[in-house]
Amino acid sequence: MSLVTDRAALARAWHGDPVLRLGSRPGPAVAVGDETLLLMCSNDYLGLAGDPRLAAAAAEAAHDWGTGAGASSRVSGATELHARLEARLAQLKGCEDAVLFSSGYLANLGTIAALTTEGDVVVSDELNHASIVDGCRLSGATIAVYPHGDAAACRRHVIAARRRGAGVLIVTDSVFSMDGDLAPLAELVAIADAHDASLMVDEAHATGVLGGGRGALAALGFKGRAEVVMGTCSKALGAAGGFVAGSTGLCRFLRLRARPYVFDTAQPAPVSAAVLAALDVIASEPWRAERACHNARRLAAGLDRAGWHVAEPDAAVVALVVGGASAAVAVSDRARAHGVLAPPILPPAVAAGTARIRLCPTALHSDADVDSAVAALGTPHEMSP
Ligand SMILES: *Cc1c(COP(=O)(O)O)cnc(C)c1O
Repeated sequence: MSLVTDRAALARAWHGDPVLRLGSRPGPAVAVGDETLLLMCSNDYLGLAGDPRLAAAAAEAAHDWGTGAGASSRVSGATELHARLEARLAQLKGCEDAVLFSSGYLANLGTIAALTTEGDVVVSDELNHASIVDGCRLSGATIAVYPHGDAAACRRHVIAARRRGAGVLIVTDSVFSMDGDLAPLAELVAIADAHDASLMVDEAHATGVLGGGRGALAALGFKGRAEVVMGTCSKALGAAGGFVAGSTGLCRFLRLRARPYVFDTAQPAPVSAAVLAALDVIASEPWRAERACHNARRLAAGLDRAGWHVAEPDAAVVALVVGGASAAVAVSDRARAHGVLAPPILPPAVAAGTARIRLCPTALHSDADVDSAVAALGTPHEMSP
């Protein structure tokens, strides 16, 4: 049996198509086959991915700049439009400069692997995003993982590494993708300052949502206090692409050394234009971020009243932790049968025994939409055997 035949046999154990295919653009409700379902699982927090202003900006840029960049940014893929976007993103984050990557995944992968090498130590929260984990693996650095949100454990790793003379990069999500809670940013900033460590914060779920769109660092008064600020244009900004903001020197270094910047084709100009349009909308319509967070709090409160254990969300992600994988599948199936799309998140994406429904109402959902999502998810009592 060939290697591929063997792996294909493994995949047959998965029943059905592992990928859901939408039949319409993103919005508060979407078409799936001949059903219309409330979309409660997208990271399009501000409801911008289907916004006509972003579509118009993208269409105009496709006309003016073409559909594909044709080369990496270091060859001929970067345009004045990309430079304008990098400057806007730097301004948003209160940094000197920003470097655009074609995805957030590649921004994390390329940045961590470029900044750290054998002999260095990356000190990483156990719930950090997979792209951070993969960047750490690629770097060749020693990886010191601390329990989720445990700043004291982080400090111990940093002190031990600094005592050996190692360079240290502390890396954390600011809003955690699968739990929706905030990292202990005040403590992490203080640890980095006290021990000459560098701090990298992944603002994928906070950019556009917290701090007037600037992110969690800005919301908590730590603008400029992390040396490396990562964000993505694929979530609240409604398009695609990732970026790292920081000092002029950091950005110059990444443009020289980050392999996904050097070897990956640049972001298509229509996408850059859509992100620029999104940044204008975010500045002029602060109600969107407020609405997304209001909806998340309303959803969490409703689920709590229904008997689920749900933590109060710090941003716009609500984690309904069900426990067992089959129970989470059952809750998701029930929601689907009641018109709500919210797929289960199962191990290994989350720890065993913490299978969950990850819910993200967006700025475009009404209170009635949120309440019908609560009703569709049922109660834990109803789901127990
Ligand atoms: C989604 C995500 C990324 C990757 O961003 P993409 O633009 O989707 O590649 C990185 N970090 C976190 C925390 C994320 O949730």
